[in-house]
Amino acid sequence: MEKVTGRSIVKGIAIGKILLYRKEEQSVKRTKVKESDREEKRYEAARKEAVSQLNELYEKAVREVGEKEAEVFKVYIMILEDSNYTDSVTHMIRSQQVNAEYAVAEAGDKLSKVFAGMEDEYFKARTADVKDITERLVRILSGKQEKEGIQDGPMIVMADDLAPSETVQLGKDKFLAFVTRYGSVHSHTAILARAMDIPALTGVDICREWDGKMAIVDGCLGVLYVEPEPEILEVFKKRQKEDKEARELLMKLKGKEDMTLDGKKIRLYANIGSERDVTDVLENDAAGIGLFRSEFLYLESEDYPDEESQFKVYRSVAENMAGKQVIVRTLDIGADKQADYFGMGYEENPAMGYRGIRVCLDRQEIFRTQLRALFRASAYGNISIMYPMIISVDEIRQIKEITESVKEELKAQGIACGKVEQGIMIETPAAVMISDMLAEEVDFFSIGTNDLTQYTLAADRQNMKLDPIYDAHHPAVLRMIQMTVENGHKHGCRVGICGELSEDTALTRTFIEMGIDELSVPPSLVLPIRKIIRNIKAGRETV
Ligand code: PEP
Ligand code: MG
Repeated sequence: MEKVTGRSIVKGIAIGKILLYRKEEQSVKRTKVKESDREEKRYEAARKEAVSQLNELYEKAVREVGEKEAEVFKVYIMILEDSNYTDSVTHMIRSQQVNAEYAVAEAGDKLSKVFAGMEDEYFKARTADVKDITERLVRILSGKQEKEGIQDGPMIVMADDLAPSETVQLGKDKFLAFVTRYGSVHSHTAILARAMDIPALTGVDICREWDGKMAIVDGCLGVLYVEPEPEILEVFKKRQKEDKEARELLMKLKGKEDMTLDGKKIRLYANIGSERDVTDVLENDAAGIGLFRSEFLYLESEDYPDEESQFKVYRSVAENMAGKQVIVRTLDIGADKQADYFGMGYEENPAMGYRGIRVCLDRQEIFRTQLRALFRASAYGNISIMYPMIISVDEIRQIKEITESVKEELKAQGIACGKVEQGIMIETPAAVMISDMLAEEVDFFSIGTNDLTQYTLAADRQNMKLDPIYDAHHPAVLRMIQMTVENGHKHGCRVGICGELSEDTALTRTFIEMGIDELSVPPSLVLPIRKIIRNIKAGRETV
């Protein structure tokens, strides 16, 4: 048994097999082969096998993660069926008298370089697809077992790092837990893991040899056991059962009010990153959605999602929430949330750079498309819109001008809209300091403690070296929250928290005492926090 420690991202216990998620570099030997016919036949058989594997993968992906995510496998098949691709392989087999593996690797390498050198971001992104196809063909030719994360049952997925988009693409049901070598506990991948409510660790020194082995992830203490002793396994199975029982007890709180003992009512909402998460929101009986991180719609796509596809998502979320408030945050792209097709370019300090509302006010066509989709969807439920990364009143005035013009445009087209509340994220120290002025302009504030902590403490939330410094309990952060609540209330503006700190049960009482109106947490934490709220007597004290 090996026992390795890491840092916990999501609590909970997972027991199962390890899947090392990696784009493995395969070494391919060049061998002189005289019988080119035989090599060509080997290639053709491998190509057919690859197409059939990919077809199966496509079908499975459609069933499990949806048609859109599955589309990538169709692109792979198209490349494999392109005669130019096959010609380049067979030409190399004949002209250089080499083995099929080598010809595939070389042809793949050349094609990758062609794609990599293209201006168009879409074609540039095809480089990775060609690499994937080449690896599949080489694997088949060398008789190696298919090892595809998406084809296996739920496993403990391990990787050096997982990008937010990879996590989304792999799909929740593919993970029992995830363990990474790199990645801060405050990264967006970590946030996704919390939303998915699967045990997760980071900072683990991952070994290649663990692939396929049995393991336990103890997300509470941040420990990984590889090939655990039978006694240890028994202990954790028992704990897992106890956790399940405790969870069932919490389920009894479904349908109960989020009210303190002395009658203060809190809006206890849930955070989501996709339409799929709504099931968890309903399952855990949240009173609304306090933060729909709409940027994941963009990160999941290969290109800018159009108005119709966004409208369908917002409408479905609003309808499924059946009149409960759904706060959709407009696109917060930039910093660690990047999509190739945005072509954002290199920045020295992306966290303090071109992100969030700055991108939307600069590239208004993207913003207007999203706003049209949101206002259209507002006719089907209780949608509110929230804007990220605000630092000035001027930004809100610009936003208002755009939203007014979008509403006018819809009206002129005879498209109905509902009543939409508009609010902003308070996640920069600037926004806190002028929260009295901002409160005059909007219906609600939602404090983004993740960014507010990073900007207040000048500590990059992505930098794992700074995890000990990145302290959301720092008095400076708590005072900022207090100041925001006071200024918001003075000017008739509701104040909530949707950053990670909202789920910190050690602070629930403090927040209520500060006068917070809303807490928005991952769906799985709604009921544990409801339990705390229902046992609190609200008072009023300063930090
Ligand atoms: C935050 O900054 O606290 C927040 C909720 O936004 P995000 O984590 O998506 O940046
Ligand atoms: Mg933020």
